[in-house]
Amino acid sequence: MRDEIIKRTLILTVTSLIVFFFITLYLTSSLNRKSLEENLVAISNVVNRDIESTTTEQEMVSIVNKYTQDNDYLRIVITNSYGSFIIDSLNDSENINEKLTDRELNLIDEDLESKRIYVIANDIFYITKINDDIIVRTSIEIKFGPNYVLLGAFYMLVLIIGVIVVGIIYTRKTSDMVVDAFRNISDNLSTINRGEYKTLDENHKFDEVNTAIKEINKINESIYSYIQNISHERDKVNFIVDNMEQGLIISKLDGEVRLINNAAESILNKKAKEIKTLEDIFSDGDCKKIKNVIDNLFFDYYDQNKDKVYEVIVSNINREWEGRGEQHLIFISIIDVTEDRKNDEIKAEFISSASHELKTPITSISGFSELLIDNLDNISKDKIMNYLTKIHQESIHMKETIDELLYLSNLENKNLDLSEDVYLDELVNEVYNEYYDKAKDAGLVLTKEVVATKTLGSNNLIKHLITNLVENAIKYNKENGSIDISLEKNNDYTILKISDTGVGIEEKNLDKIFDRFYRVDESRNRKTGGIGFGLPICKKICAAHNTTISVSSKLGVGTVFEVPFRNYE
Ligand code: ADP
Repeated sequence: MRDEIIKRTLILTVTSLIVFFFITLYLTSSLNRKSLEENLVAISNVVNRDIESTTTEQEMVSIVNKYTQDNDYLRIVITNSYGSFIIDSLNDSENINEKLTDRELNLIDEDLESKRIYVIANDIFYITKINDDIIVRTSIEIKFGPNYVLLGAFYMLVLIIGVIVVGIIYTRKTSDMVVDAFRNISDNLSTINRGEYKTLDENHKFDEVNTAIKEINKINESIYSYIQNISHERDKVNFIVDNMEQGLIISKLDGEVRLINNAAESILNKKAKEIKTLEDIFSDGDCKKIKNVIDNLFFDYYDQNKDKVYEVIVSNINREWEGRGEQHLIFISIIDVTEDRKNDEIKAEFISSASHELKTPITSISGFSELLIDNLDNISKDKIMNYLTKIHQESIHMKETIDELLYLSNLENKNLDLSEDVYLDELVNEVYNEYYDKAKDAGLVLTKEVVATKTLGSNNLIKHLITNLVENAIKYNKENGSIDISLEKNNDYTILKISDTGVGIEEKNLDKIFDRFYRVDESRNRKTGGIGFGLPICKKICAAHNTTISVSSKLGVGTVFEVPFRNYE
C-alpha cells in the first residue's frame, strides 16, 4: 500500500513538473522574444538615425562599434544594395565577403517600409534600408534557442530528481502515517482474533482514520462481547458435558463418533481418541440396533470386568450440527444402573421371600383348621388343643413377620426425627433390666458395663437396635453362656458393643446376615422364631444415624456386634 501511494504521488508530481516545465518554457520564450523584438526595434531606430547622418565609412564603423562593443548579443551589419557586407560588428573578416541572402533582400524589396523582423538561426534580424545603397541589418541573438531549452531541461531534470527524492521521503513519511494506522488496526484485529480484547487508539493524526478506528472499536466491542458470550456458553456446555455423571456419546448415523464425554470415557474405560466409531464400543448387534434407531431405544450394557450394568438410551435427533446444516445424529446416554438392577433383584427376592414367609404359616393355619373342621367330633380334646396352639403360634409368627415388614418399610419411607438427645447408658440400662430375667430363664448371664454418654438420634430406634442385638445374643447362645453389653467412650465416639459366648457365625456367612430374610440355620431359626429381619433393621437404623454396624464372630465361640455413635455434649 505504501509503495503504491509513493508511486502514484511521484507519477503525479513528475507529470505535473513536466507539464509545468513546457508551459513555462513556452510562456517565457514567447515573452522574451516579444521584449527582444521591441528592444531590437528601438535599438535599430537609434542606429539607423545615426547611420543616416554619417557620410563616411569610418563614421559608420565608429557608430557600429559604439552600439555593439558593450553588447555581445547585438550585431549590426551594413551591406550595399546587393547585399554584400560593408561593415559587420562581429568584426569577422570572413563575413565581409558574405552577402545578405536573397531572401533577406527580397524582404527589403517587398516591404514598403523596408523593415522586417525575421528570425534566422539564433538571430532576430531587423533589416532596414536607409537608402538605395545602404542596408542596415540589426540583429540580436535569441537567447532562447535550442541550447537554452536543453539547459532548462537539465535544470528541470535536476529539479525533478530533487522533487522525486524529497517526494519519496515526504510521501514515505506521510504514507507511513496512514499505513501505520492500518497496520496498527490489523495488528489489533489479529489480537482480537486470538481472543484478546484491545481498544484501538483514537488519537490518530488523520480524522478519517480516527472515524474508521471508532467504527472498528465499536465493531470490536460487539464482536468481542459476542465471542465472550459464545465462549461462556461453550464453557458452560463443556462444563456440564464433562462433569455429568451420565456418559454421553454423539455419533452420526453411519456410526462415526463426534463427541464423547469424560464420564463415557471412564465407563467404557477407553480414551476418546481410541473411539472412532460405535463399533469401537458396542457389539455388532448393538451397533446395528443403534444405527437403525428411529426414535428412542433402551438396552442394558453389561461390563463383565467391572461387574456393572449400564442402561444405554439411544435417541435419534434431527438438528443443526456445527453449522453444517441439518443432520441426523445419534445421542447415546450411558447410565450406571448397577444399584438399581440390584435393588430390582432384591425387591423381587423380597417379594418372593415375603410371600413364602407368609405362605408357610397360612398353609399351617389352613391345614390345622381344616383338620379341626373335618374331625371335630372324632378327635380328642388334647389334639384339638394341640391344633389350636399350632394355629395360634403360626398366627403370632405371621403377625410378627408383618410387624417387622411394616417396621422396615416405615424406616425406609418415613421422615424420621433423629434430633433427640439419646443417653446411650440409660437405653442400655433399660434393655438390660428388661432382658436380665429372660436371659436368666434361658440359663444365661447378662452383664453390662456403661459410661454416661450422649448422642443425637432417635431414642426409639436406638433402643430397638440394642434390643434386637441382645435378643439375638440370647437366641443364638449356648447353655450357661453369657451376654455382655458395654459402652466404650473415647474422644469423639462411644462404641456400643454386644458380645456373646453363643454359637457364632461362620466367616463365609458374616456379610449375608444383614440381608433380609437371611438365616444361617433355617431349622434352628424356626425353633427360635426368627424371620431374618432383625439385622437388616439394625443396619437401616445405623445408616439413619450415619453410622455402621460391624460384626466379628468365631463359630462355636461367640459373636461381637459393634456400633460407634458420635458423642454429643
Ligand atoms: P432372625 O430373625 O433369624 O434372628 P436376624 O436378621 O436377626 O434374623 O439374624 C439373621 C441370622 O443371623 C440369624 O438367623 C442367625 O443365624 C444369625 N445371627 C444373628 N445374631 C447372631 C448371634 N448373636 N450369634 C449367632 N448367630 C447370629
